[in-house]
Amino acid sequence: MSKVSIFWFRRDLRLEDNCGLFHALKGDDAVQPIFIFDRDILDELNDDSDARVHFIHGEISRLAQEIAVRGGSLDVRYGHPLEIWKQLLEDYEISALYANRDYEPYARERDKAVYELLESQGIPFISKKDQVFYEKSEVLKADGAPYVVYTPYSRLWKERFKNEGIPFFDSSSIQHWNPGSNQLISLEAMGFKPSTLSFPGRTVDLGIVKNYHNTRNTPSKPGTTRLSVHLRFGTISIRELIRQTADANGKYLNELIWRDFYSSILWHFPHVAKGNFNKKYDRVAWRNDEEEFHRWCKGETGYPIVDAGMRELNNTGYMHNRVRMIVASFLTKHLLVDWRWGEAYFAEKLLDFDLTSNNGGWQWAAGTGVDAAPYFRIFNPYSQTDKFDPKKKYIEHWVPEYDSAEYPEPIVDHKAARERALETYKAALS
Ligand code: FAD
Repeated sequence: MSKVSIFWFRRDLRLEDNCGLFHALKGDDAVQPIFIFDRDILDELNDDSDARVHFIHGEISRLAQEIAVRGGSLDVRYGHPLEIWKQLLEDYEISALYANRDYEPYARERDKAVYELLESQGIPFISKKDQVFYEKSEVLKADGAPYVVYTPYSRLWKERFKNEGIPFFDSSSIQHWNPGSNQLISLEAMGFKPSTLSFPGRTVDLGIVKNYHNTRNTPSKPGTTRLSVHLRFGTISIRELIRQTADANGKYLNELIWRDFYSSILWHFPHVAKGNFNKKYDRVAWRNDEEEFHRWCKGETGYPIVDAGMRELNNTGYMHNRVRMIVASFLTKHLLVDWRWGEAYFAEKLLDFDLTSNNGGWQWAAGTGVDAAPYFRIFNPYSQTDKFDPKKKYIEHWVPEYDSAEYPEPIVDHKAARERALETYKAALS
C-alpha cells in the first residue's frame, strides 16, 4: 500500500477553487478523496425523500465522474464518521487528512474526535478556510472582541477585502490523485428515495445582481440569485461568487457579508445554536399554542402573505427572504411561539437550510439575537403586503382562494396580537 493523503469533502462539493483540496493536491502524496454520508445526521431526518439528501447524492456522483476524468476516484462511505475513520485507517496508509473548516457546533465536535483519533496515530489533520470569505477572528474589533453589530463588522470586512483581494485555488492542472475506481452508494441503500423538488441552477445571473437593489424585496419576481443552496453545500465557491459580483452591486455584497457575520457569531457564541443570544429574553413567556403553530406551518393563518410564504416553503423547499422575515415575525410576535419551533420547522423544510443563517434570521426576527429587530418592531402583515406585494401576485400564486369564503378568518387580530406581544416582551425585560 502506498501512502495517500485524504481529502474529506463536506460542505465544499466542487473541484474548482477548493482551498483544502488544492493544498492536498500540492502535498507530497497522492490524494484519495472521500465523502461520508453521515448517519448521525441522516438518521435524524423525518422524510425519506428529503430533497437535500437527493441533491447531495447527485452532486457526489457528479464529483466522482469529474475526479475519474482526472485519474482519481472518490471513496464514498455511509455510517458514523468516527467509525468510518477507524475503518479508513485500516484501508489506507494515510499521511495526512485535509479538509475545509466547518464552524457548526456538531461539526466542530465531530472534527475534534477525528483529530484526536488521527493524532494518536501521528497523522496531521490540516484544515483550511473555504466555506466563508472571512472566518473566526479575521474581522474583530480593535480590542479583539467579536462584533455583534452588522454595520461596523461589514465596514471592516470591506476594508480588509479592498486591501487583500480574492485568492483563487486552481488545482485543475495538478494531477496528483490516487488511482482507483469510484466507490458509490445508492440512495435506496441508505433508506432514501429520490425527491420531486427541483433545485435552482448554480450559474450567477449577473442581470439579477446588477438590478438586485430594485428587485430583492419583491417575492413575486425572480429578483434574487437563488444561490443559497449552492453556497450551503459548496457547489459554488464563495470567493468566485464575490469575484463575479462585488463590483456589480453593493447591496448584494452586503448580503454575502451577512452570511460571514452570522458564521462569525456562531463561532464566537456557540450558545446561540440552542438559546437566545441575548439572555435577557430567556424570560419571554412564549404561548406555544400547538394548534396555532400547526396552522402557521400549513399556511392556514388567515393572513395571506404569511400563508403564501409557508405554502411556498412547503411546496418548493424555498421561501423568499422578505417573506421569511414576515412569517418569522408573525410566529414569534403575533402568535408568541418560541422562535426555536419556527427555526426547527425551517430546518426540516428549507433546501438551503444552514444553521448559521437560519438561527441568525430567526433570532433577528424574534428580537433575541445580535443586531436584531427590536422587540417593538412588529411587522404588520397587511402593510408588508402593500409594500412588497401590492398587486398580490405572490399571494394569488400561493393562496388563490385568499379572497373567498373558503379562506379562514385571521387566526389573531393584528392590533390585539401586537399589544399582547409588546406586553409580553416588556414583562420579560422588566
Ligand atoms: P440572495 O438574495 O440572492 O442573496 C445571495 C446570498 O446571500 C444568499 O444565497 C445567501 O447565501 C446570502 N444571504 C442573503 N440574505 C441573507 C441573510 N439575511 N442572512 C445570511 N445570508 C444571507 N439563508 C440560508 O442560506 N439558509 C437558511 O437556513 C436561512 N434561513 C433563514 C431564516 C430566516 C427566518 C430568515 C429571515 C432568513 C434566512 N436565510 C437563510 C437568509 C435568506 O433568507 C436566504 O439566504 C435567501 O432568501 C436565499 O435566497 P437567494 O439565494 O436568492 O438570496
